[in-house]
Amino acid sequence: MTISLSATELENLDRRHVIHPHQRPDRQDRRVMVRGQGSTVWDAAGRDFLDALGGGIWVAQVGHGRTELAEAAKEQSLSLAHFTTFFEYTNDKAARLAGRLAALAPDHINRMYFTNSGSEGVDTAIKLARLYHHHRGESSRTWILARHYGYHGSSYGSGTATGIPDMQAAVGPNLPNVEKLMPPYAYRAEFYGGQDVTDFLIAELTATIERIGAENIAAMIGEPVLGGGGVIAPPADYWPRVREVLSKHGILLIADEVITAFGRTGAWFDSAQRGMQPDLIVTAKGLTSGYQPLGAVLMSDAIGETVPAIGGSFFHGHTYAGHPVACAVALANLDIIESEGLLDRSLKIGAGFRSGLAAAADLPTVGDVRVEGATVGIELVTDKATRESLPPDLALAVADELYYNHGILTRNYGATLVLSPPLVFTDEETARTSAALTEVLARVDIEGCRIAPC
Ligand code: PMP
Repeated sequence: MTISLSATELENLDRRHVIHPHQRPDRQDRRVMVRGQGSTVWDAAGRDFLDALGGGIWVAQVGHGRTELAEAAKEQSLSLAHFTTFFEYTNDKAARLAGRLAALAPDHINRMYFTNSGSEGVDTAIKLARLYHHHRGESSRTWILARHYGYHGSSYGSGTATGIPDMQAAVGPNLPNVEKLMPPYAYRAEFYGGQDVTDFLIAELTATIERIGAENIAAMIGEPVLGGGGVIAPPADYWPRVREVLSKHGILLIADEVITAFGRTGAWFDSAQRGMQPDLIVTAKGLTSGYQPLGAVLMSDAIGETVPAIGGSFFHGHTYAGHPVACAVALANLDIIESEGLLDRSLKIGAGFRSGLAAAADLPTVGDVRVEGATVGIELVTDKATRESLPPDLALAVADELYYNHGILTRNYGATLVLSPPLVFTDEETARTSAALTEVLARVDIEGCRIAPC
């Protein structure tokens, strides 16, 4: 029996006992969510919010409260709640899901390893890249190239590859042999000293390979579109040219598609539409729309055939890899994305934000509005001409104002406000979110470091 607790009691329990990811000691309010339907969520006090953040963390692709996914979980729990995929065992849902993903992925990708999260997927991909070279007699290839502003997770490997120094501070030693490159961030033209962004970055990549030695580098990892870094898409020639340089030097390319895969930017795999041709693709979030913790690392035939075949064994494994309930939910989730045309819907949401935010783009504090399908980054500045970043706490105040006074969920990542709504967001919800954002952004008081009252 569940004892009913008031909203305040739940908040107090949480405050007393729960350690939150990326918790800040100066933020003591608690937002206890208890229910969701479509793009709306309700807190413990019964207040409704428009979830323009996809479960707060870039998920909820098919929307909240989907009966089909609950039914899939229930049915699978009753028939077989878990059976491992360790050794030669498997279960029917893991096998089916792997086949389904192979059919969706580019032709050269037919094998996958299942995880519970994106971080585990990135660690797995790093290990696979090193193992691949080891089994081919190139054990010196251990270095991983990653990028500033990249986000890859919180485990030691993925956390080290992440380009946020705070995540590596005070917990070292971190994973050795990880080198960070500059990101393709056209709005920050000052990073490239007046040069073409891609030319600059290709020169940097080439010089880095020369310095470390191609014979010592296993892989480069990157999000096709930087997500947590602020929804930053590269120039069209960036990934094709990076791929070309890496191929020339036998270096693998890992696409971290934890955010972008399964429709967020309008495609099953964003890497496919940016000419990335990755050897490994890391996925998670959208695979189940967040209804179950599940990820998959998709690998090229060259890696899939080399690592298990030549190496004999793959000494790596998670108890819940290929969990049948999670895989059953993923299958039902992919069915919905396909049957409801959510890849196209994602692009329509993007078009709605592009027009809905046109007036906001002219506001003095809005430096750049970046829309990539159903995800948006609004970079805030104190001065449009100098592009000096708005203090992150003021960007957070914008998100707070939207939360408390408009009932809309958004979040700042540094000076960039991010939206990643469910792919079932309606035109009306897109328009309402755009109007509320415009209204709040017009009240940013830089001098007073606050949001001016209405
Ligand atoms: N890669 C990317 C691009 C992500 O955005 C995230 C999480 N937001 C991760 C990896 C890590 O995934 P998880 O939090 O599931 O470990």
